[in-house]
Amino acid sequence: MRSTGIRAVGRFDAAPDDGCGAEGTDAAPPGVQDARSARRDRSASRPNHTWTHPALTSLTARGVTDELERTRRFLRNDFGVESAPYFRPPFGYRDAAVDRIAADLGYTVPVLWDGSLSDSGVITEKYLMAMARRYLRAQRIVIGHANHAPVTRVFGELQEIVTERRLNMLTLDDYFQRPIARR
Ligand SMILES: [Zn+2]
Repeated sequence: MRSTGIRAVGRFDAAPDDGCGAEGTDAAPPGVQDARSARRDRSASRPNHTWTHPALTSLTARGVTDELERTRRFLRNDFGVESAPYFRPPFGYRDAAVDRIAADLGYTVPVLWDGSLSDSGVITEKYLMAMARRYLRAQRIVIGHANHAPVTRVFGELQEIVTERRLNMLTLDDYFQRPIARR
């Protein structure tokens, strides 16, 4: 799973960090409380990341629709938030057909990323911090999965990088200046 974070797929027009809430459906394991606190945090953007994490480009139109709609319902029911207009295609795989189907469902903003903390699987804090130093830079979208405990032990060190590099952490809504009244 280590390769996950290095799978930087494409660039997203100078978009700044949306450091949290990027994974729409990945479940947090027992002991990681982030999901619960994140659930209460309505200030974060919640892009639709599909239900079963398929390559959307390999699905039929019906398949793409099902993936996005099932996840939309989950985010509405469980988090009380609307994920549109953002969707994050698994692996960064998208094409004109996928974009058109997504847009018809209200997902007009595909979100790609520049790097990842590489923590979709269990990694050491040392490795996670190496990824953080590598990717946490201005104008970047960096994925943090928070699926496992190590990240919870380096929050202070992550904050130090942000402070030292004078970065501002933004949500997608911040960046696109989307009115909060939508909720
Ligand atoms: Zn993913």
